[in-house]
Amino acid sequence: MADAAPAETASATQNPSPNGTSGAAATSKDISISWTDPNYKPPSGYLGNLSASQQKALDQFRKELQDEGHFVEERMDDSTLLRYLRARKWDVALAKKMLFDREKWREDFQLDKLMKCVLEFDFKEKKEVDKYYPQYYHKVDKEGRPVYVEKLGALNLTELMKITTQERQIQALVYEYEIFERERLPACSKAAGHPVETSCTILDLKGVGLGKFWDVKNYVQEAAGIGQNYYPERMGKFYIVNSSWMFTTIWSVIKGWLDPATVAKISITNSNDILKQQIPLENLPADLGGKCSCPGGCSLSDAGPWH
Ligand SMILES: [Zn+2]
Repeated sequence: MADAAPAETASATQNPSPNGTSGAAATSKDISISWTDPNYKPPSGYLGNLSASQQKALDQFRKELQDEGHFVEERMDDSTLLRYLRARKWDVALAKKMLFDREKWREDFQLDKLMKCVLEFDFKEKKEVDKYYPQYYHKVDKEGRPVYVEKLGALNLTELMKITTQERQIQALVYEYEIFERERLPACSKAAGHPVETSCTILDLKGVGLGKFWDVKNYVQEAAGIGQNYYPERMGKFYIVNSSWMFTTIWSVIKGWLDPATVAKISITNSNDILKQQIPLENLPADLGGKCSCPGGCSLSDAGPWH
């Protein structure tokens, strides 16, 4: 639903040769549109495959931002503007509001300051946090997306709160989102030979009871809100694995925090077999049914094309 584009003739369908300079791409300055993978065809609504009305919405969105003095080149390239347009079903006014809300949040959150003191930031607790709440990027899925794993089942909130705070965790999450956009996605695009704009997220519920979930409810809610509101259209695949019957109750709560379009992208299963369809076994950590076992543990290896 979210990404559904109007059924119109898209420019790239008339010129399917993915040489990176064809169709709508030729008018764009965005470098993410060039690709070397001969089998890649951009999905509808993405650079290189825009219908006439989608192109018009993009041009209008960019022009309004420029005319009103809100355009910030390094943060508002065409693929970014298109993410906001897709997230708001091509309504330019709503996409603009979403973008302004995000710009305001950047300021309130002091994101630039956070990223500037990145050297000092280094989330000193990371190694310790990993013991009590593993969250990590690890290699790529079959379409070249960075895989992000979050093991809610391994959570030990009592120990976790001895070494960090929810505020620090949210800062670390946002920092990771920024690195994901600035470093991981460009590296993955280069490795895949085509633009990679989204992640493949795995939420492992093995061992999660209701109590554990309620413990992190506030954190999960805040994290989900940041992802949905300020990093739109970044979720390519989302797998909730090893869920139990109890999760039905939990899910009815989480669902309420999410956009229906987001909910539609989520697969929930009671095992982890489904992951093998999307992630090459050699890229999937052994504890999720794959064959990878990085020295020192997959959760801390940060292995992937970004190295
Ligand atoms: Zn590994």
